[in-house]
Amino acid sequence: MEKIRVHDKVFQKYLSEKQILESVDAVAEAINRDFADKNPVFLSILNGSFMFTADLLKRITRPCELSFLKLASYEGTSSTGKVKVLVGLNESLADRDVIIIEDIVDSGHTMVKLIEQVQSHKPASIKVATFLFKPDACKIDVPLDYIGMRIPNDFIVGYGLDYDGLGRNFPDIYSVVED
Ligand code: 5GP
Ligand code: MG
Repeated sequence: MEKIRVHDKVFQKYLSEKQILESVDAVAEAINRDFADKNPVFLSILNGSFMFTADLLKRITRPCELSFLKLASYEGTSSTGKVKVLVGLNESLADRDVIIIEDIVDSGHTMVKLIEQVQSHKPASIKVATFLFKPDACKIDVPLDYIGMRIPNDFIVGYGLDYDGLGRNFPDIYSVVED
């Protein structure tokens, strides 16, 4: 499919499954190289990164662990406003080599908060693997160790990413067509 409709918007194919998997290969290769003598814990951030996580982990050659995390945002009563909290972190990360797996880094705020939260569990190290990165949208300094692809500042769906709940199932990535 070259074009899809999700809710009220039309999306145009932007990255094919083949291109996507080539990028996943490259990320996996880099992680395999850097973690050749380690047993890292991957922390997959739900829901968006489920597809990237599955494709990436199939390519990791070291024995490793996998945990899934969901970020929940809530309105704080203080003036600090929205806070992201981790849901589902049962395993100890103390002294472990943690690799965070994200679908996309846009403004970077989610990732910065996430790294702070993971840091408080006192891991030995934290690395970040994001499948997509929007450099033009990101105005803050976010340490990204592994990046699948850099993309322009357009809204995309597919490969785990949704538009109001729909579109995660597509194996390709689609970019919104402005009308
Ligand atoms: P950030 O805090 O970096 O601005 O936002 C990151 C989150 O926003 C991602 O985890 C993702 O849920 C969402 N997001 C950012 N850009 C896109 C996009 O182009 N498409 C979709 N579907 N979600 C996006
Ligand atoms: Mg996400």
